[in-house]
Amino acid sequence: MTIPMLDLKGQYKKIKSEVDSSIQQVIDSGIFINGKEVSDFEKNLSEFLSSNYVVACANGTDALQIAMMALELKLGDEVIVPSFTYAATAEVVGLLGLVPVLVDVDPRSFNIKVEDIERSITPKTKAIVPVHLFGQISDMERIMEIAGKHGLYVIEDNAQALGAVYKYSNGSRKYAGTIGHIGCTSFFPTKNLGCYGDGGALFTQDKALAEKIRMVTDHGQKVKYYHDIIGCNSRLDTIQAAVLNIKLRHLNEYSAARYKAAQKYKELLADMDEIILPLESEFSTHVYHQFTIRVNKKRDELKQYLYDKGIASMIYYPLALNHQKAFSSISKIKVSLESAETVAGEVLSLPMHTELKESDQIVICNAIREFFKK
Ligand SMILES: *Cc1c(COP(=O)(O)O)cnc(C)c1O
Repeated sequence: MTIPMLDLKGQYKKIKSEVDSSIQQVIDSGIFINGKEVSDFEKNLSEFLSSNYVVACANGTDALQIAMMALELKLGDEVIVPSFTYAATAEVVGLLGLVPVLVDVDPRSFNIKVEDIERSITPKTKAIVPVHLFGQISDMERIMEIAGKHGLYVIEDNAQALGAVYKYSNGSRKYAGTIGHIGCTSFFPTKNLGCYGDGGALFTQDKALAEKIRMVTDHGQKVKYYHDIIGCNSRLDTIQAAVLNIKLRHLNEYSAARYKAAQKYKELLADMDEIILPLESEFSTHVYHQFTIRVNKKRDELKQYLYDKGIASMIYYPLALNHQKAFSSISKIKVSLESAETVAGEVLSLPMHTELKESDQIVICNAIREFFKK
């Protein structure tokens, strides 16, 4: 591809000496598991997010699973999940023997349709998992209100919106992932704060819950070799923490670079009737994990046209969860999932990363224009 989706190498080049020396320090120390860098990173991230507690773990999928284990969700409990998301969100629900209850999304923000939440609540409902898709926070103020009214837990799937800020109607602000009972994130290399392998973390504001989360990540033990509950083994490698400590210092600058690139796309594509541009909600900043347009006619042909010109694009995600085989027998659906299905057939994510050049964006947008003129 002449214009790829991502440029992790270009990003690395700019921080190479810092990253290389911090990785080397870990190798020299010989402490590859639970090294000082891991607790330093937890502290650094909790300061960055103003989150009382941050617990690192092995990946974002584990973070979601650990959250549900720490909240003691039980076999058959129902968990409300948007039908348009990465499968991991609902997968861990199924893995733990819980029931994913699928609800629709807002077709402009791609985030959970809040009106569907109350319609889907039953006596078995225990939790809601809003996913802050593509870098923008769900309508958390309303979601927390519904959760409070019905005594439900809220687990934020914040794998795609780390660094985004929620603006409450009274003007106060909180970082994505620090609003619900637990926030989960991923440091997969392509995420907004990516390490050089797998990584993840959980956030909470509650001391007892933080202790429980830490126990779950460490075989259910608080004192070594005394196992109080069933947990798992989910750790962030010291080398990954060393990389993250460096990259966290650049996160705001990375978010700003993505935002700037998104505004350029919007400017270049503004007058095109064939395309629906991503919406920026009034209650959240957008950190543009993806720049996702909707094309209601000939989306797949456009993707092929770009590909033939050496321009990458991706379909995140081609199938709503209600059409995924894995969930057909275990999920419950109480509402229409019309928008989730519509957007799955229309979304196209364009190259988006911290090193994206304006000149490449012009090439991409000119190619899109040519395609519709044909
Ligand atoms: C990436 C991602 C996950 C899973 O994270 P991993 O670190 O890959 O396990 C979960 N949910 C969403 C929305 C994601 O984008």
